[in-house]
Amino acid sequence: MIQPARCAPQQHWDVIVCGAGPAGSALARRLAGRHRVLVVDRELPSGSTRTAQTWRIGESLPGSAAVLLRRQNLLERFLADGHAERCASVSVWDSVEPVWFDALRDPAGPGWHLDRMRFDAMLRDAAHQAGAANATVRGRLEVQHDGTHWQLADEHSGAQHRARVVVDATGRNAALCRSLGLRRQAADDLVCVHVLLAAQVDDVDRSTRTCADQDGWWYSVRVPSGERVLACHLDADDPALRELRNARVLLERARRLPLLAAVLPPDVGAAQTHVCPAGSVALDLSGCAQRPGFYAVGDAVLAFDPLSSQGLFHTLASADSAASAIEGYLQGNDLAAHAYWSEMQQVQDRYFTHLAATYAGPVRHRERPFWARRLA
Ligand SMILES: Cc1cc2nc3c(=O)[nH]c(=O)nc-3n(C[C@H](O)[C@H](O)[C@H](O)COP(=O)(O)OP(=O)(O)OC[C@H]3O[C@@H](n4cnc5c(N)ncnc54)[C@H](O)[C@@H]3O)c2cc1C
Repeated sequence: MIQPARCAPQQHWDVIVCGAGPAGSALARRLAGRHRVLVVDRELPSGSTRTAQTWRIGESLPGSAAVLLRRQNLLERFLADGHAERCASVSVWDSVEPVWFDALRDPAGPGWHLDRMRFDAMLRDAAHQAGAANATVRGRLEVQHDGTHWQLADEHSGAQHRARVVVDATGRNAALCRSLGLRRQAADDLVCVHVLLAAQVDDVDRSTRTCADQDGWWYSVRVPSGERVLACHLDADDPALRELRNARVLLERARRLPLLAAVLPPDVGAAQTHVCPAGSVALDLSGCAQRPGFYAVGDAVLAFDPLSSQGLFHTLASADSAASAIEGYLQGNDLAAHAYWSEMQQVQDRYFTHLAATYAGPVRHRERPFWARRLA
């Protein structure tokens, strides 16, 4: 039960968006011109700033995202931001022979390899410029509906906010969904071990290189900074994970794969690995439409396996659709939410069909636990 905090007056908004990642920022930008919008995110650890963080994995954006950026009136700004155009991709997947796909043939255009920190910052800044207010939270978020409005409280500070609409845009954390007891289904326990390497001076390769291996899969790509991402995806319970946290071991294993060895540097220098969850997680949407004024966007609705390279497109697309549904709801159209949740259900269904087909590809490894689990 949320108790009114004595020294923290309640603030009133039309929409509270929890999470200032790409999904929350894109949604806030769409709504802020016409409504009072508050974007709430976690307070950063003392001494650190968002601009001090220099790297975040998740760099491929498909060309089809241009339509959504244009709708946000952000395409020109995005194009001027120094992201690199995607070139061909090459994979050793269904067979041991490399297969090239020339992205220029994609009717939506080749897409981009992002400077990811810059992309996220552009969206946050654009939401702010459109008039969205910001607040930070330090504790667990508590959310409650009082019959007409949502109340959001920061357990730590006691700060309280009230609005007709509340949106979970907290990514894989899905903080509000969890607080409301909504179920989320994890398809697997995939993790990603990744490292950002200094590229060799003669590394001019601009392709995305993907390889299926016995116990997982790998990719490497150059990002606009000129550095090279190396990422390995495997099951969280694979004993090899422990060793692969060592950047030297990770590089050595990757260099056994000829497609990657051709572009990887000989040593890791001072680079360090990072490990993050990377498996698909889907929000159970069955109870969502019955919660008036509650929405979820981006990874909170569906966290994509990096194999799809669709997570960021989905953040923009779900924010766009949610914005239309929220506009409708605030104008008294109670059915607007149903259309949104039914669209998200279709997105989840299509995604899982496609993902299963992709993981069924490397039949040569089908007896290995990693691939057998995904075939089951
Ligand atoms: C290894 C890996 C590689 C990937 N590669 C790609 C790729 O190449 N292309 C692609 O399109 N996608 C990729 N993705 C997916 C992409 O990064 C995500 O889909 C995208 O970041 C989701 O955006 P979001 O705004 O929903 O969530 P996030 O970006 O996670 O943002 C969530 C925000 O909510 C805030 N938050 C969290 N909890 C709370 C809380 N309790 N209270 C307040 N605020 C909170 C966080 O601080 C954050 O600002 C990859 C993902 C992984 C794991």
